[in-house]
Amino acid sequence: MANVADTKLYDILGVPPGASENELKKAYRKLAKEYHPDKNPNAGDKFKEISFAYEVLSNPEKRELCNRYGEQGLREGSGGGGGMDDIFSHIFGGGLFGFMGNQSRSRNGRRRGEDMMHPLKVSLEGLYNGKTTKLQLSKNVLCSACSGQGGKSGAVQKCSACRGRGVRIMIRQLAPGMVQQMQSVCSDCNGEGEVINEKDRCKKCEGKKVIKEVKILEVHVDKGMKHGQRITFTGEAGQAPGVEPGDIVLLLQEKEHEVFQRDGNDLHMTYKIGLVEALCGFQFTFKHLDGRQIVVKYPPGKVIEPGCVRVVRGEGMPQCRYPFEKGDLYIKFHVQFPENNWINPDKLSELEDLLPSRPEVPNIIGETEEVELQEFDSTRGSGGGQRREAYNDSSDEESSSHHGPGVQCAHQ
Ligand SMILES: [Zn+2]
Ligand SMILES: [Zn+2]
Repeated sequence: MANVADTKLYDILGVPPGASENELKKAYRKLAKEYHPDKNPNAGDKFKEISFAYEVLSNPEKRELCNRYGEQGLREGSGGGGGMDDIFSHIFGGGLFGFMGNQSRSRNGRRRGEDMMHPLKVSLEGLYNGKTTKLQLSKNVLCSACSGQGGKSGAVQKCSACRGRGVRIMIRQLAPGMVQQMQSVCSDCNGEGEVINEKDRCKKCEGKKVIKEVKILEVHVDKGMKHGQRITFTGEAGQAPGVEPGDIVLLLQEKEHEVFQRDGNDLHMTYKIGLVEALCGFQFTFKHLDGRQIVVKYPPGKVIEPGCVRVVRGEGMPQCRYPFEKGDLYIKFHVQFPENNWINPDKLSELEDLLPSRPEVPNIIGETEEVELQEFDSTRGSGGGQRREAYNDSSDEESSSHHGPGVQCAHQ
């Protein structure tokens, strides 16, 4: 939980970043009751903020984006638009994140449109070999028939209902002598501040100035690109009249791989061997991310200890701009010991003759007491409440995924 990019939404609900769904819901309900505009007309935008924070955090995907990438991640999650911008800038205040400053205004002073963020899931193979994918998306473009005017030139008039402001102030009487001022989007012009009379309206866009267009982007994922890296298509986001289009930003999401785990430019894998191989050498083959069959040899006479790690230099991930430079491949070995009673006990002396000799048993003076060593299932816990490691393990996702629960103490 240490890496939450921005805790603002959590702060609004008054919960810690690690809060459970239930805690979120409770906090939201309590605050929503308190700040509902019907009950608390002086609370300003507080209710909106609370609802927004809850809407984001109660959605696991949006929450994840918010935790990882803060506000920009959220824009992707919400798809922007739809009045979201107001609440965004209200909560995040603009300029809170480095890029916000040039988000709203472009260099030449024109208003700049929203950036569109899309997650792009790529397999580890794709990131190793590089790939080109096509991404289809629909976006608004200025209507070509009216050049984004919405109608014939001169047809556009200032909305008289809102005097061109796009919003209307309404006064609502709550009780005698008590009024509430409410601002709402002008219904005559849909907040545009201008109207076009019906007969002059552009037929193609029906006066909306923009039309939806399907766009296909060709995306080049370079060898060695990483999770969280961005691919930007400048000025390719939706168009609107008088607004400089924002960028389409693709956020790379590395898919989990069955065999390899990635750590920067290095790869990690686990391989199971038996006791014979651990002691007498072995060879095995695996398929690398580019399809090559890699043979790993370990000569007789060299020993693999249970849980040890060996490295193959230069078989990791390619480096992003220098794909011929590669990281390393780390192989962790799990040594499977034989089952109980795998051999006739009479034969064990033969084995013992071959193995390194036992340490000498020290002479014990005084009385002794013999006890029995029993099987123990570590997944069921000792019952004494002292084995907390089981819980700690689960928070460490990386290691818990390849440590089976049934590692038996007797073998260590
Ligand atoms: Zn048009
Ligand atoms: Zn209006």
